[in-house]
Amino acid sequence: MSESEDEVAVGIDLGTTFSCVGVYQHGRVEIIANDMGNRTTPSYVAFTHDGRLFGEAATKQAALNPVNTIFDAKRLIGRKFTDSAVQSDMKLWPFKVVGDSANKAKVVVNEKGEELKLLSAEELSSMVLSKMKQIAENYLGKSIKNAVVTVPAYFNDSQRQATKDAATIAGLNVLRILVEPTAAAVAYGLDKKLTSRSAEERIILVFDLGGGTFDVSLVRIRKNNFEVLATEGDSHLGGEDFDNRLVTYFVDEFRKKYKKDISSNAKSLRRLKNSCEEAKRFLSNSCVADIDIDSLYEGIDYHTRITRAKFEELNKDLFNSCVETVRNCLKAAEMSKDSVHDIVLVGGSTRIPKVQQLLQTYFNGKELCKSINPDEAVAYGAAVHTAVLNGLEDLYTSKLELLDVTPLSLGVKVKGEVMSTVIPRHTRIPASIERKYTTSADYQDAICFLVYEGERPNSADNNLLGEITLEGLPRVPRGEVEVSVTFNIDADGVLDVTAECKIGRVKANTRITNNKGRLTKEEIEKMIKDSERYKSADEKFKRKIAAINELEDYAYEMRSTIKDNRNLHGNAWKKAVKAINEAIRWVNANRSAKVVTYNSKRRELEDLCNPKKRDYRRPTRIKVENID
Ligand code: AMP
Repeated sequence: MSESEDEVAVGIDLGTTFSCVGVYQHGRVEIIANDMGNRTTPSYVAFTHDGRLFGEAATKQAALNPVNTIFDAKRLIGRKFTDSAVQSDMKLWPFKVVGDSANKAKVVVNEKGEELKLLSAEELSSMVLSKMKQIAENYLGKSIKNAVVTVPAYFNDSQRQATKDAATIAGLNVLRILVEPTAAAVAYGLDKKLTSRSAEERIILVFDLGGGTFDVSLVRIRKNNFEVLATEGDSHLGGEDFDNRLVTYFVDEFRKKYKKDISSNAKSLRRLKNSCEEAKRFLSNSCVADIDIDSLYEGIDYHTRITRAKFEELNKDLFNSCVETVRNCLKAAEMSKDSVHDIVLVGGSTRIPKVQQLLQTYFNGKELCKSINPDEAVAYGAAVHTAVLNGLEDLYTSKLELLDVTPLSLGVKVKGEVMSTVIPRHTRIPASIERKYTTSADYQDAICFLVYEGERPNSADNNLLGEITLEGLPRVPRGEVEVSVTFNIDADGVLDVTAECKIGRVKANTRITNNKGRLTKEEIEKMIKDSERYKSADEKFKRKIAAINELEDYAYEMRSTIKDNRNLHGNAWKKAVKAINEAIRWVNANRSAKVVTYNSKRRELEDLCNPKKRDYRRPTRIKVENID
């Protein structure tokens, strides 16, 4: 390959149902059409007697070969087989999914009519990416190595890693993983020609309702700087769900009409689903759609029709939940709906009139921005970003900065099960934050840092991501050794944790790509809801921990300063020493007493150790937290 070929990079929107590829050249973005002339390509792979088929070729034969036509690989990526989303999706998929020995979800395919293969979501996604690469290569007439690939905003670390792995398998070097709403905002920024000279600041609400995922993001555009202020969404909502509502409705209608159940016949279901998707698209421009499927089941020709009103009724709760998500996103960013300048529609499902109407009504009739093709905006933004990374000089692209945020707080467990946050939720990434900790026991020569993500003050209620142990610490009394812990998240959301003790000259680090996997979007949403639901219990927990720490810190502080205490003599001094040691023993053995008990024990100790001054305040030695 020549040098110039290396320079060509593409932007790929790896979608759940459709994928799209764009290239930035001659100072503009071109969305590349596939061999069928379509600018988006179904994210489908089929395994047949004659080999593999991709895109439209795969969807076309899906009805005849349902068990070997694979779609929705993006729904499986980075997920365990026992994940509830996988378990419920499986019921609607005509192909088979099993769990391997590591509980990883694998799709069973029968290739060339003989071999039975188990394929991971990475392998399946790599096939879709290879197809997109090939589409670009055919158009550009040269081979492509580099790409910017997009993922939903809430993809966790392992899902992003798995997407990168998929690209590597496809022979692509991932220049950057970009989140979809940011990519869409980039496309929008270009569209509106906001330049570095413009002082204008705009708040954009990116409403991305695609085939399988739904994301609402608030993006601030200021002087070519795109900042994601908040993202909310549902990784399991999109056009597919609207199709499935129609499928369920017609399966029921068929049962009533012909007394036959087609739900266990994969081929019939696939054909019905295709027709439903077609009808749904039709209903975006028309009030009635006809469905005509010859010999759908046991030779029965199925002819029926559906009105737009019925379609809207069947999906009412799903459409309403989209608006609810918008409300939550504004709440997360602490913004009112009046602060939004533009509402950008992304994803094919935003063509549904009812969705547009509900959104517009929520924003008091504000015009929706539809100037960007909703199917192409994400790939468009990804293609622009390849130009930014290549440092191509261009008026609109040279100074673009892209900022994402952390979906959950990240931190370590400190004494008393407490979650000590290092990187707060909604921190812009890339980010690097350092915090200092100290030992909680005398002569402790190792510290184990347990890394969590979540919003609850009790680390046990959060999600354990991994751990690192720092060994070889100097053997000194409790609290006298200082350890720096640095959390570093790169632009792709990959977390590196480093613990370092300067005195002991020891260092340990870990990359959080644990087997357990970061939380899924549903789990993140649940965790955030839980943190609200358990607010008063959490406050109680915090008060108790504060009371324990106060007693404990005071007792240890007195133990190390008692010999210099000039207010105590003779028996009073001995009594105080005894009380200090007892208090330390008691607090270590009693972690679930009442707040009042810890407080009264502390006051008793204060009276004994410093009888002349009840409100004696001990000097703070190191402002750090103790780790078990
Ligand atoms: P995306 O993932 O953004 O490519 O969106 C694909 C989804 O958009 C699929 O579920 C399509 O059925 C849906 N879609 C595309 N065009 C329309 C339309 N005109 N009306 C309703 N849904 C559509």
